Amino acid sequence: MAPLSRPFIPLPVLLLVRLLAGVGVAALLLAGAAAAAPVPATPAPPPGWVWPLEPRPAVVRAFDPPEKPWLSGHRGVDLGAGRGSPVLAPADGTVVFAGWVVDRPVLTIDHGSGLRSSFEPVATALAVGTAVVRGQPVGTLEAPGAGHCSPAECLHWGVRRGDDYVDPLQFVEDRRPSVLLPWDPGPSG
Ligand SMILES: [Zn+2]
Repeated sequence: MAPLSRPFIPLPVLLLVRLLAGVGVAALLLAGAAAAAPVPATPAPPPGWVWPLEPRPAVVRAFDPPEKPWLSGHRGVDLGAGRGSPVLAPADGTVVFAGWVVDRPVLTIDHGSGLRSSFEPVATALAVGTAVVRGQPVGTLEAPGAGHCSPAECLHWGVRRGDDYVDPLQFVEDRRPSVLLPWDPGPSG
């Protein structure tokens, strides 16, 4: 009876396995380097957003997210403004959508970090892919036929974090308690 022999593995496969093992080691090394980098404990709200209208607009309808995604609600805030008002980018970003949705012109800006602002009804001359900076005029408020705030006029501003709608006002209003706390230098070791 022949002794158990090593299973036959073609040389190219062996080389591939060795190559993959090498990549795995490299990935582990990279992961270790990333883990060593300082990481913020909690994601702070992006600092320095500005209102998309000037002067600071009145909030005529607040954020009112539906309890279930399929229910109706208000997935943004309505800011009082008249037709033709310049709309400003609340933060740096890139235009990712500019066009008509059903019966109204919509402008969407990707701010990075998974955050996207959408404005409507807003007409813009900016093309998709255009980089914008905070405070830059990006379009003008239109007056749709059957207005969102009819008979008044308003700018609807929605912000999504990933797929979830969040309250846009959290980015422009300081909601921390207005109490002066003693400065805590943290553990000194
Ligand atoms: Zn609205």
